[in-house]
Amino acid sequence: MADTIFRKIIDGQIPAHKVYEDDKVLAFLDIGPLSRGHTLVIPKEPAETLDQLSDESAAALGRVLPRICRAVIAVTGVKEYNVLENNGRGAHQAVMHVHFHIIPKPGESEGLGIRWPAGSLDGAEGQQLAAKIRAAILS
Ligand code: AMP
Repeated sequence: MADTIFRKIIDGQIPAHKVYEDDKVLAFLDIGPLSRGHTLVIPKEPAETLDQLSDESAAALGRVLPRICRAVIAVTGVKEYNVLENNGRGAHQAVMHVHFHIIPKPGESEGLGIRWPAGSLDGAEGQQLAAKIRAAILS
């Protein structure tokens, strides 16, 4: 696993504005916020991408994510937000350690901007694809 900036934050080698910590999870303010309150929630486990994360760390993250979202809403007063998790450099991941962004969306010009080039799902292809993914989940 790469020795990332987030590993250094977990280890206390560099500072961060921490908002939550337990034995499996750490959350802190993003240093380059897209909006006020932009927070990162990371597992302490050094997985690079979400698919590499253990069930234990995933459960620990899932358990606290909504609670941290509620705190960000309460403090910023902004009820709308995006939760973003990038995997791989081509998918805009800059730090190769799993992290969930909580990004308040106070208005059109702040927060996350999304381009959503939606296609359409063919019925037959959808049936095949879903069957293959179901099988892959079980394997
Ligand atoms: P991503 O593109 O999903 O990998 O996002 C990485 C995020 O980490 C960016 O939003 C950065 O602003 C943030 N970031 C990088 N270094 C630090 C740091 N030392 N403290 C807090 N946030 C950081």
